[in-house]
Amino acid sequence: MKVIYSPKQELHAPESFISSGRVLPSPECPERADRLFAAVRAEGHEIVAPEPAPDSAISAIHSIDYLRFLETAHSRWQGLPTPSPEVIANVHPGRHMGHYPEHIIGQAGYHMADTACPIGAGTWEAARVAADCAITAVQDVLQSSPSAYALCRPPGHHAYHDQAGGFCFLNNVAIAADWVRRDGHRAAILDIDVHHGNGTQGIFYHRKDIYFVSIHADPSNFYPFFAGYAGERGAGEGLGFNLNLPQAPGTDDEAWLEAIDHSLVELRRNGTDVLLLSLGLDAQENDPLGVLKITTEGFRRAGAAISSFDGPVAIIQEGGYLCDELGANLVAFLDGFENG
Ligand SMILES: [Zn+2]
Repeated sequence: MKVIYSPKQELHAPESFISSGRVLPSPECPERADRLFAAVRAEGHEIVAPEPAPDSAISAIHSIDYLRFLETAHSRWQGLPTPSPEVIANVHPGRHMGHYPEHIIGQAGYHMADTACPIGAGTWEAARVAADCAITAVQDVLQSSPSAYALCRPPGHHAYHDQAGGFCFLNNVAIAADWVRRDGHRAAILDIDVHHGNGTQGIFYHRKDIYFVSIHADPSNFYPFFAGYAGERGAGEGLGFNLNLPQAPGTDDEAWLEAIDHSLVELRRNGTDVLLLSLGLDAQENDPLGVLKITTEGFRRAGAAISSFDGPVAIIQEGGYLCDELGANLVAFLDGFENG
């Protein structure tokens, strides 16, 4: 399978992550993509560099204020009297205030949902290239290949139209799905990352032209906590075009694969003709941030199941963190997809 990858992902190397109130090294490190890349290269997959996507593809999903913030935040932050090396918001508007401020500290709080999306000197460039990878993958599946894999890093599915969060800045899969829709296709996104794709849901919640289905750990006791519940079915024109299938902690291969099969039935019923897959690998049983019990063989079977989709499939990398099986999970998924 064609693998779209850029070493520029390494320009984003967040230093910190606050977990249970403690400052720890960020699990969303360049080594994640290095390992995934090494694994697919060793398997002989064709490696392709991304084509630069037009700015209009990005601004179709993200607000101009937000894009300007992402591009300039780090240099503006360095102009503060005693800046930290990375932009990390420490004050947020909360649920009762919505005014857009001028100061970089206020804008950081406005545009950053949590402390898991620090912005360093190279974050913007890496995020932009990750979006390029996603667009290149969908262009490829629309024009020449039945499927392609974009090794996007940083990931994207927690990013809203004007807000970063959970390691994500630009919503790569949303940008790519909107690009597909422009060509007159009926696109859908299936998200199998262990965390709910709250940003993707938020972006398309009022739209009927892109169906969003997410299979993830129950958010009652798990990030992103505030979205991802079964009752969230879309709103307005988008009512009925959002489907959440939360899974209990400890869910194993059989139940998870059943949920995937159910999603595929839904997508067929919806008339989807191009599928974008948000492929997180953090549902695996040994992932340090996961709570489900999916095996490497489970990922192979997931790949085989999703390959039954009757149409082009663009696979977009989301989460999946350092564990011994990280590369093997991706290889198994792609092998299941290609070979059943
Ligand atoms: Zn995740």
